[in-house]
Formats: sequence, C-alpha cells, structure tokens
Amino acid sequence: MGFNIAIDGPAGAGKSTIAKKIASRLGYIYVDTGAMYRAMALYLLRENVPASDAAAISRKCREADISIGYEDGAQVVYLNGENVNGLIRTEEVGNMASASSPNPDVRKKLVELQQKLAAGADVVMDGRDIGTCVLPDAQVKVYLTADSGVRAMRRYKELTEKGVSCDLATIEKDIIERDRQDMTREISPLTQAEDAVLIDSSALTIDEVAEKIIALAGTK
Ligand code: C5P
Repeated sequence: MGFNIAIDGPAGAGKSTIAKKIASRLGYIYVDTGAMYRAMALYLLRENVPASDAAAISRKCREADISIGYEDGAQVVYLNGENVNGLIRTEEVGNMASASSPNPDVRKKLVELQQKLAAGADVVMDGRDIGTCVLPDAQVKVYLTADSGVRAMRRYKELTEKGVSCDLATIEKDIIERDRQDMTREISPLTQAEDAVLIDSSALTIDEVAEKIIALAGTK
C-alpha cells in the first residue's frame, strides 16, 4: 500500500485547498471525493431525479459513469466522458450532492472507485468518510473543522472572487444544513475517526494547517 493521508471534515473547512497543497509539496496524487459526489449530483439534476426519491436515485446512479483524470497536475472529473469540472461547484449541485450521497448505491459505486485510486499510490484524499470508511488504514488521518461563520465567509469570498453573486446568510444556512445531513445520515456519517487528529482551522492560515499535516506525515 502507498502512503495515504485522509482528510475529513465539514463543508468549507478548507479541505481541498489544503489537500492540494500537501499533495503538490509531497508529490502525491490528490483525490477530491466530493467532486465525485458532485458529478453524480449533476447527473441526477440533469435527469430531473427528485432528491427525495431514493429508488430513482438508486436506479439512475448506475447510468452515471464517473471517472477521474489529471490534466496539468489538476484533478478532472468526467461524467460519462464529459469533463464537468466547471459545472459542479455551484450551491445547487452541492446541495444535491449532500441530499443524494446518503444513498447506499451511490456510496458503494464511488467508494469502490476511491479505493481503487488509492491502492498502491501515495494519495491525499479528502471527503467525509475517508478515515472512517474509505481508507481505514491510512497512515495519517485528519479531521479538519472550523467555525460555521468562518466557513461561510470563506465560501462567500471564493464565490465573489469568481464573480458569482451570493448572499452570506444563505451560504451559512446551507452549510449548517449540509453538515446536519452529512452528520446524521445512516451510512458513513461525517464523524471524526477515533485515530484522527483534530485540527480547527478557524484561526489558522492555509499554510499553517498544511505544515501541521506535513509534520504529522513526517512522524510516520
Ligand atoms: O466536499 P464537497 O462539498 O465537495 O462535497 C459535497 C457533498 O458530497 C458533501 O456535502 C457530502 O454529502 C458528499 N460527500 C460524501 N462523502 C465524501 C465526500 C463528499 O458524502 N467522501
């Protein structure tokens, strides 16, 4: 098995920014599992599958072929062969991802893909259930969190910098609701693995958090 670093935590804690940084510093592959759930959600939205219809989600998710590639070192997610990177970062897709990710058929399909990607490779993988379920033997496990107000502000800045108009209060409300769904679902809820190190990033910079995790990897 390669060296695996698992980073879990709620929406907007900085997981992907930090995981990318660590992967590039250590020369590891970065696997963004949220992007896979988002690509699946995009498919379900396109097919007009209601978030509340579990049977339809189970049926339809079989038709979505999700795969991962790397272009110029960055992860690209393909949905039935189409690069959907530019389409999955909306609040609508995020909310649908959170609503459809409790589905056991969706999870089984994506977890298998994630485990295949990590087998034999050095990876930094981020998500909600990486340390608890996808890579239970990861050498480094981190549970990264931050205040919901801080997380909402970060997402607000990220969106406004991209020119997307948005409302801070709505973002915070969505984040809290998404956390609630992710933490209370029956299968693989978001929770800190027993052997994970808790890092609260509310008052830390991206570099400070990345350094802490690289230092943890250095001790293994
Ligand atoms: O991390 P991101 O916001 O892109 O994830 C979108 C949604 O995908 C999460 O709210 C969660 O419901 C789901 N997800 C998951 N398991 C993962 C990664 C993401 O259930 N490993």
